[in-house]
Amino acid sequence: MKKIEHIGIAVKSIENANKIYSSLFGHSPYKTEEVKSEGVKTSFFMTGDSKIELLEATNPDSPIAKFIEKKGEGVHHIAFAVDDIESEIIRLKKEGFIVLNETPKKGADNKLVAFLHPKSTQGVLVELCQEIK
Ligand code: ZN
Repeated sequence: MKKIEHIGIAVKSIENANKIYSSLFGHSPYKTEEVKSEGVKTSFFMTGDSKIELLEATNPDSPIAKFIEKKGEGVHHIAFAVDDIESEIIRLKKEGFIVLNETPKKGADNKLVAFLHPKSTQGVLVELCQEIK
């Protein structure tokens, strides 16, 4: 794993959150994107080398809707950049981590992504992401 690529934050209203984070950083998100397969609307802010991803649910079955229902708004996941997501999945499975999707899926911001179950990472949902070239 290379670096923290981004931190994902679950929000109820992305419009409202965009305003708050725009004034926090002093600049607007560089991109907003809907990921239909995940039932989320996202926006991304650059913060130096890393990013902040805001996530709003677009339907009640979305993992983000369920997260907010259980825990409220807040930090949802930490994403780490990897060079080769398939080999990282194999390596991490061997190490005993629970990989939620063993086949990487297409996430927001032109990335292939896979998630590790928080049960195997001390309560933190970990996302692996690899830039799609
Ligand atoms: Zn993410």
